[in-house]
Amino acid sequence: MTDLAIVGAGPAGLSASIYAARAGLSVRLYEKALPGGQMNNTESVENYLGFPGVLSGPGLIEQMVQHVRRFGVEARTADICEVRQDGEAFELVGVKDDPRARSVLIATGSHPRLLGIPGEQEFTGRGVSYCATCDGFFFQNRKVVVIGGGDAACEESLYLARICDRVTIVHRRDQLRAVDILQRRCFENPKIEFIWDTVPVEFSGDTAVRSVRLRNVKTGAESDLPCDGVFVYIGNIPNSGIVRDLVALDEGGYIMVDLELSTSIRGIVAAGDVRHKSYRQIAAAVGDGCVAALTAARWVLGGI
Ligand code: NAP
Repeated sequence: MTDLAIVGAGPAGLSASIYAARAGLSVRLYEKALPGGQMNNTESVENYLGFPGVLSGPGLIEQMVQHVRRFGVEARTADICEVRQDGEAFELVGVKDDPRARSVLIATGSHPRLLGIPGEQEFTGRGVSYCATCDGFFFQNRKVVVIGGGDAACEESLYLARICDRVTIVHRRDQLRAVDILQRRCFENPKIEFIWDTVPVEFSGDTAVRSVRLRNVKTGAESDLPCDGVFVYIGNIPNSGIVRDLVALDEGGYIMVDLELSTSIRGIVAAGDVRHKSYRQIAAAVGDGCVAALTAARWVLGGI
């Protein structure tokens, strides 16, 4: 039986792999898609300590994967649908070979929140996107709308402004949520404009999205904003479904943990964006991976 199964090969899972392997645990790292998680959708990373130049998200992933490989851990592809308690161990439902583990580290991250408005589903992939790094290229010299006012909306607007003719940020309040430096860069960028106190209520078009119907939340007035594309950045939803029936979650579905990142079930730790916390950063996820792996190592080596 594996000592530690790590579910998710984003920065938290990758970091945990190094600490667990170095502590002497047998480690299995599972990922259902590409290693790196949301870093795959990040155009540039300039706040990760030790890398003073601007790195691309995929560039940083490559360095992390190589680092993990040095300690003999390689991500395995598996679509795990549930973690079950099995006596003093756990079973990973969806893993074919050796699905049991003494301890489990959940590092499954989160996925983009949808607006849930008419036209969103219909035009996703046809002008409506949740990833500027993936799809921005298709909007060269076009006019795009970004929905949201957080770090992601601002960072990706700055990226889109390098490609597109005009970027209009539509935000539901009259103040951005993003960190100061990103706000300042957006305000100073001549290609970025803002529509405040406004939410999108419908996307419309023909073969692709052509306009966004907007509603001012203060006056109720509605208007149509013609555009060639829409990028939605209104936060994320935790990928905690595989332990939904096993560990305590907060009201948003994030996994509750203590200071050592232990969940409500001894033997299961959680790290990175899937856990209840205030700041969701690559550096914070890497730190989580370290703490959660050391907690698991203490359990396993000391006997759970
Ligand atoms: P976020 O910080 O939760 O911001 C979401 C934004 O969308 C907020 O401005 C929010 O408005 C708005 N919003 C939420 N629901 C909405 C709805 N239904 N309709 C319209 N607008 C809506 O999400 P995020 O920007 O994706 O960032 C997620 C986490 O990743 C954060 O912790 C962030 O710091 C981190 N992150 C960091 C970086 C970086 O450090 N460079 C980059 C990207 C993300 P309100 O402000 O009114 O709530």
